[in-house]
Amino acid sequence: MQQPKKIAIIGAGVAGLAFALLACRQGHKVQVFERKRLDAQMGAGVTLWPNATFVLAKMDLLSAIEARSGKPGWMRRISPDNNEMTALPIAELKQLSGFPSLTILRQDLMAVLIEACKQANIALTDNQPIDQSRLAMLRQHYDLVIGADGRMQSAARYYVAPHARPVYQGFINIIGISHYHQQTFSPSAILDYCGDGQRFGIVPVSDTCAYWAAAWQMPLGDIDAPAFALPRLKARFAHWPAAVQFMQEYAEPQSIRSIFVHDLDPLPCWYRQNVLLIGDAAHASLPTSGQGACQALEDAWHLAECMTAIPDTQSLLQQFQLRRQDKTGRIQLSGRALANLIFNPATANTQAGLVKQSLQDIVSVWMSGLPIS
Ligand SMILES: Cc1cc2nc3c(=O)[nH]c(=O)nc-3n(C[C@H](O)[C@H](O)[C@H](O)COP(=O)(O)OP(=O)(O)OC[C@H]3O[C@@H](n4cnc5c(N)ncnc54)[C@H](O)[C@@H]3O)c2cc1C
Repeated sequence: MQQPKKIAIIGAGVAGLAFALLACRQGHKVQVFERKRLDAQMGAGVTLWPNATFVLAKMDLLSAIEARSGKPGWMRRISPDNNEMTALPIAELKQLSGFPSLTILRQDLMAVLIEACKQANIALTDNQPIDQSRLAMLRQHYDLVIGADGRMQSAARYYVAPHARPVYQGFINIIGISHYHQQTFSPSAILDYCGDGQRFGIVPVSDTCAYWAAAWQMPLGDIDAPAFALPRLKARFAHWPAAVQFMQEYAEPQSIRSIFVHDLDPLPCWYRQNVLLIGDAAHASLPTSGQGACQALEDAWHLAECMTAIPDTQSLLQQFQLRRQDKTGRIQLSGRALANLIFNPATANTQAGLVKQSLQDIVSVWMSGLPIS
């Protein structure tokens, strides 16, 4: 073990909490600062692909996550007139990678991470937004400051790359959670309805619950109120298959959010002095990449690995960026490419869903950089 470092982490999201836990287990002294309440509700759910569950296994959290997750066998891409376009046998990804693919409500993923941090006695300070003057203080008092403060208003990114701005990619996501009786509907697969420049994805997390996301092109605006979002959704998807109607019918109103989806251009440099960006703060990708939280977990694991080997802070930051920049940059660009195929009117009717990759190719990309046999 190297000399223990004093580490401040800005942001108690996926990247911040995962890294806090790994660094604390290595004997470093960690403090996390979160601008909101720790139990503030956010997002609907995430799919954790095998690269994410590899990291969760290394963190000894896989069984806790599995206990709260769905284990879909398939992802089916279906046209608005209910014809299956492609089907990805998700279960086979496990045979190729050795790790499962899991679907989980974000509140459950965060609860597991928060509980593990509390068990490890990590100092979690919430309701503590970090601005530039507080960041300057953290830089002085800590050996390392980790900017895990997300895609939109990262104070750490402003310090590291003041000219970088989130880029609006021209489409809105309406997300929500639906609860229902098992007898009424029980999808065993992720259902990705897609066509005419629109998308409605349904992700089951149990026999009685699914999260979903609808998306279409739209100029930036304000339709945040669920009372406004749901009627829009119903009108837009009125003629789509029954599963889409069902999700809207059973949607929990308080779970509905609208997100004007931004990502980042790949940043040339993720650190300045002793401040390092990880997760969305460094390389936010579009939801179409399906990899944002997975990459946030990978960052945490790689950074912890680098810390065991490299005592000097500047070399550590360089090596970490070197390990991670290429993979995350490719994922950012692939998210944009798929979004363009789905939502751009010029290409939307070329059946974007039919972008076919072999399972082996998918596994090779997702597991690259991870030591699996
Ligand atoms: C609709 C949608 C669907 C998605 N689906 C998937 C999926 O299926 N699979 C997947 O892998 N990824 C998915 N993602 C992406 C994923 O949610 C993010 O990439 C992931 O949450 C990034 O983790 P993070 O820790 O970097 O950032 P976040 O989870 O955003 O956490 C950042 C934290 O920092 C805090 N913070 C911000 N500013 C400050 C400040 N100044 N001071 C203190 N705290 C601050 C925030 O409050 C927040 O708690 C999806 C994203 C969206 C929008």
